[in-house]
Amino acid sequence: MDFQLSDAQVSIQRAIRDFAQEEIVPNVMEYDERKEFPAHLIQKMGELGLLGVFYPEEYGGAEMGYTDYALILEEISAADPSIGLSVAAHNSLGTNHIFTFGSEAQRQRIIPRLTSGETMAAWALTEPSGGSDAFGLKTTARKVGDKWILNGSKTFITNPNYADYAVVMARTNPEKGKAGISAFIVEKGMPGYTVGNPMNKLGMRASDTAELFLEDCEVPAENLLGNEGEGYFDALKILDGGRISISAMCVGIARGAFDHAMRYAQERSAFGKSISQYQAIKFKLADMATKIEAGRLLTLRAASLKDQGLPSLTEATMAKLFSSEAAVDIANEAVQIFGGYGYIKEYPVEKFYRDAKLGTIGEGTSEILRLVIARDLIKKYAINMEKELV
Ligand SMILES: Cc1cc2nc3c(=O)[nH]c(=O)nc-3n(C[C@H](O)[C@H](O)[C@H](O)COP(=O)(O)OP(=O)(O)OC[C@H]3O[C@@H](n4cnc5c(N)ncnc54)[C@H](O)[C@@H]3O)c2cc1C
Repeated sequence: MDFQLSDAQVSIQRAIRDFAQEEIVPNVMEYDERKEFPAHLIQKMGELGLLGVFYPEEYGGAEMGYTDYALILEEISAADPSIGLSVAAHNSLGTNHIFTFGSEAQRQRIIPRLTSGETMAAWALTEPSGGSDAFGLKTTARKVGDKWILNGSKTFITNPNYADYAVVMARTNPEKGKAGISAFIVEKGMPGYTVGNPMNKLGMRASDTAELFLEDCEVPAENLLGNEGEGYFDALKILDGGRISISAMCVGIARGAFDHAMRYAQERSAFGKSISQYQAIKFKLADMATKIEAGRLLTLRAASLKDQGLPSLTEATMAKLFSSEAAVDIANEAVQIFGGYGYIKEYPVEKFYRDAKLGTIGEGTSEILRLVIARDLIKKYAINMEKELV
C-alpha cells in the first residue's frame, strides 16, 4: 500500500492548480451569477487533456488513470465546483459511455472531437418522473427502417447546451424490463431533438443543467450505442466510475471551503485575539481537515481499484457517500467560521455552501447509495457465511 503520489501526479496537481488560479478563480462569481458555463475554457481544457483524461492518445486522450482523474477533479472543484461537475459529467459519463461501449467507427468519429474540446458530451438517464428509479424510464425508441424513433424527455442533464452528443437511455422493448433498455448517441441537429434553457439552480449555477426533449426524434441505426437491450447494464458500469468523479469533486469543494476558512480564522480577531486561538474554532478546523483526508483516501482507494481493473462499485459508492456528506458539513462550518461575512456573496464560502449540496443528490442520492452499499455488504456476508458452513 503506497500513499505517496508519483512525481508525475504532483506535477499534474500543480499544473491544474495553476490553471485554476489563473483562468477560473478570478471570474467564479461572475459565472455563478450569470449562470453561464465559461465556454471559452472548453478548448483550453481540451488542450490540457482535461476533457479526455483516460482515453488513448490515438483518440486525442491524455492516457491517465482514475487516480490522476481524481486529483484533477479535486483541483478544479476547489476553484469552481461547477466546472468540476461539467468536466466530470463530460469525461466519466458521456465520453466514457461512447468510448467503452461504442463501435470503432463511433469512437473514431466522435471521441477526438470530445477529447480536444471541440465539443462536450452529455449523459441522459434521469427523467421528470424519477431519477432514483431511473431504470423505470419512460422514453421509448422504436425501430423504423434504418432509423430509431425516440420519444420522451430527460431532465437535470449536465452539459447539453454545450454538447454535440448526448448519450440517451431509452426503452426499446417494454416487455423485457431492464433487458429492454438501450443507449443511443443523439446528436445536436437531429430532427425532433431539442434542449431546454439552463435551469435556475441553488448552486453549481455555472454548470449547464437542462431538459432534453425527444419528439419523434430520428436517430440513425448506426447511433445505437452498445448492443440493443444492454443499455441498463452498461449504464451501471458507467455510474461506477462516475461516482469516483463526484467523490473527488466533493473533496475539492470541501478543501476549497476549508482553505478559505483556515485563512480567515487566522486573520479575524474577536475579544482581542485571533479566532483561530479559540478552542471552538480549532475543533472545527481539526474536524474539517480530518474529514477531507478521509474522503480523499476513500476516493483514491476506489480510483486505484478501478485503475487495477478490480471491482470498485462498493468502494466508489462509499467514497461518494462520505465525501458528499462531509463536503456539506465542511462548507457549513466554513460559513460559520466566517460569521456574517460567510453569508455574503463577496466572500467565497457561501458559494461552496450552495454548490456542496449537489453532491448528496447527483449520481445517486445519499439514501440510494446507502441501499447500494448495504445490498452489496449483505450479499458478500451471505457468501462468506456459506463458505464457513461448508
Ligand atoms: C445539478 C444536477 C445535475 C445532474 N446531472 C445529471 C446528468 O448529467 N444525467 C442524469 O441522468 N441525471 C443527472 N442529474 C439527476 C440526478 O441524478 C437525480 O436528481 C437524482 O438521481 C435523484 O433523482 P430525483 O431528482 O428524481 O429524485 P427522486 O428519485 O424523486 O428522489 C426524491 C427523494 O426520495 C428518496 N428516495 C427515492 N427512492 C428511495 C428509496 N428506494 N429509498 C429511500 N429513499 C428514496 C431520494 O433519496 C430523495 O431524497 C442531475 C441532477 C442535478 C440536480
